[in-house]
Amino acid sequence: MENRSREILFVEPVLKEIVWGGRRLVTEFPYRSEGEHIGECWAVSAHPHGDCVVTEGTYAGWHLSKLYAEHRELFGNISAEEFPLLVKIIDARENLSIQVHPDDAYAREHEGCPFGKTECWYVMDCPENATLVIGHHAKTRQELADMVAADKYGELIREVPVKKGDFLQIDPGTVHAIKGGFLILETQQNSDITYRVYDYGRLVDGKPRQLHVQQSINVINVPDEADKKALSHTDGLPGNTLNLLVESKYYKVWKLDLEGAVSFEQEYPFLILSVLEGSGTLDGRAVEKGAHMLLPAGYGKVELEGNMELIVSAPV
Ligand code: ZN
Repeated sequence: MENRSREILFVEPVLKEIVWGGRRLVTEFPYRSEGEHIGECWAVSAHPHGDCVVTEGTYAGWHLSKLYAEHRELFGNISAEEFPLLVKIIDARENLSIQVHPDDAYAREHEGCPFGKTECWYVMDCPENATLVIGHHAKTRQELADMVAADKYGELIREVPVKKGDFLQIDPGTVHAIKGGFLILETQQNSDITYRVYDYGRLVDGKPRQLHVQQSINVINVPDEADKKALSHTDGLPGNTLNLLVESKYYKVWKLDLEGAVSFEQEYPFLILSVLEGSGTLDGRAVEKGAHMLLPAGYGKVELEGNMELIVSAPV
């Protein structure tokens, strides 16, 4: 009989219709939705706003949140009160709002939720000469409040040049915005708390979306030095190797460019593999672009074959 911990967990992604979203997630990936503005694919999520369901095997039909609550041994018996990570793909046809997230302490005190939001982005695609909003230029919190009150966003925000394959770590308190034309794989804490600083005056159903100006001013880091440490490049990384992109307080994220075969040990509480490009096999099972697999604790040796680009993540 097969050891249960050798079972790969496949889950059904949850697609999100959002005003700035496009159609790439359903035209370029094996995801299904009728909507015209599919902004996000929550590929591995146990969040109440999008709780993925296991599609096959022993736990077919189980929500990931329930599996985490009742079979913690599959997740290395970690103590986080909720499943700690959320992996999504974002298709921004238009600019996202300029936003900021709180840390755990602020989220717990002010939102009644255990997790703030630390996130990181792998840029799967973007236009030539693109920029993202990372950080701001205000020197003091008063200057920040004054510039926000005076609508001086052009002067306030910092735009950073970014290209396909770049990686960005967004710590809580960092002002940030994804722009139209970006396709991003995001690995984040399991949280949906976003404070919107500015939404370009955009109307949704005839009304502006709610801004959270005071919360934003409370949590934004001042002065901001995010640009110096947020951005890294992945071109030139060696193939067939798990290249560590970041080790934060909450997650480790690697890039793996596979050509041929590679094997390694799954030695983490759990490991999430996301196939961004190409196709191949995972322990003999066919996988392709758009597949996300969760390998439980004690899984052991992982064998990958084929031509694939993957982002791999584990909780810390
Ligand atoms: Zn964010």
